[in-house]
Amino acid sequence: MKAMTGTRGLVLNEPFLWEQGARGRTCFSMPRRDVAPCPLEDELVDQGPDFPDLSEVDLVRHYTRLSTWNFGIDTGMYPLGSCTMKYNPKINEKMASLPGFAGAHPLLPAELCQGVLKLMYDLEKYLAEITGLSAVTLQPAAGAHGELTGMLIFHAFFKARNQRRSKILIPDTAHGTNPASAALCGFKSISVTSNEQGVLAPEDVAELMDEETAGIMITNPNTLGLFEDNIKKIAGIVHAKGGLVYADGANMNAIMGIVDMSKSVVDVLHLNLHKTFATPHGGGGPGSGPVCVTKNLEKFLPVPRVIHQDGDYTLTYDCPESIGKLHAFYGNFGVQIKAYSYILSMGAKLKKASQLAVLNANYIKEKLKSVFHLPYDRACMHECVFTDKFQKPYKVTTLDMAKRLMDYGFHPPTIYFPLVVQGALMIEPTETESKTSIDLFIAALKAIAKEAEESPELLHNAPCNPKMQRLDETTAARKPCLAG
Ligand SMILES: *Cc1c(COP(=O)(O)O)cnc(C)c1O
Repeated sequence: MKAMTGTRGLVLNEPFLWEQGARGRTCFSMPRRDVAPCPLEDELVDQGPDFPDLSEVDLVRHYTRLSTWNFGIDTGMYPLGSCTMKYNPKINEKMASLPGFAGAHPLLPAELCQGVLKLMYDLEKYLAEITGLSAVTLQPAAGAHGELTGMLIFHAFFKARNQRRSKILIPDTAHGTNPASAALCGFKSISVTSNEQGVLAPEDVAELMDEETAGIMITNPNTLGLFEDNIKKIAGIVHAKGGLVYADGANMNAIMGIVDMSKSVVDVLHLNLHKTFATPHGGGGPGSGPVCVTKNLEKFLPVPRVIHQDGDYTLTYDCPESIGKLHAFYGNFGVQIKAYSYILSMGAKLKKASQLAVLNANYIKEKLKSVFHLPYDRACMHECVFTDKFQKPYKVTTLDMAKRLMDYGFHPPTIYFPLVVQGALMIEPTETESKTSIDLFIAALKAIAKEAEESPELLHNAPCNPKMQRLDETTAARKPCLAG
């Protein structure tokens, strides 16, 4: 395959500074002494510590190379399915660091932070427009936090009607946070099996839905990267029994400007600003999981709410049916600024971003389905899921292939998720990858499939290039040794 970027794979072998340089090299030049030597010099000046002799270039390269040990979206393609690791334009970071925003204290009175409040007010409106729902809270700090907010809203809705509902339906393809959020709210989750097309069948939902069930949590597109095409029918079944429909919208990157979620008859939906709307994520940085609701659920949204009255923006706590506060102050404002800036700079092109994300995933699916088993051979959304079935005869697993990708300079995709697919290899290219980088990724995976047949031991021992090679998966996670 074509040479990539001057290196082959992630080069993570860097000697200590003590092992580098050569006698007599130096990093600085001193002017020649133009005063008489100090008489005490011999007594005052010792040999000095045993520092290595290095040139400036030795030193700069050493630290620059170390700085690249963390793989990130600015380093290369990061095809982690379900995570939407797309490139985030730097202009949004710049907007978030404008002094008026970055320096705004959360306790400023409303009259001194009209711009901040206007931004929040407008962002809520934009997100409502993008999803098709009526009202939005920006308070939740992440996707799972948005789910919890949504479940509290479900709870408040039934409480207001004097109903006790204890169960919630959750598809077997759901993100693990869905049942966890429902459980935190006291709901018992009932798993719904997806059909052979990888989506929910209305009759399976009808069989489980009853008047003790609060509703359903559907991820759409689901974690197989497939559009739940029966969502409208399913929503009808749930509503007919008095239940509510929660949509996990973390995968909105596939459908922005294309699907109006209110037409899918969704009642509550969360978004992940740190996936779809220009905040980098991974590593536990701040996120934001706004929750969008229909008009009749608006009264339950968390306080404070931003309102616009007589030309002024203010915060109100006067919402007697609100579920209360979900986060200190108003959520992670820095993330909100980036989303606002991203939406304004993209404008109507948001739709194009989704179209390209879907096109890129389908391109990868079509190009690789001859070498990797594709369990659901149909048009996908923003991600595609393969398995290691074709490599089984050579005793090569998904893990081996993911590790080998590092030798080719790519971050591995998501593996062994979703759980309903054995040996899953879940790839999400996102819209920000060019055809050139996607073709290199495809070529790397094809080369790996060939290696699996011809020299499987290469894959069993991968990765070879990184400093840390094959780790013990369990002890690396449970008892990490970070000093080596
Ligand atoms: C990422 C993701 C979540 C959870 O979001 P966090 O911000 O990590 O809490 C929930 N559902 C789906 C489908 C996701 O992809």
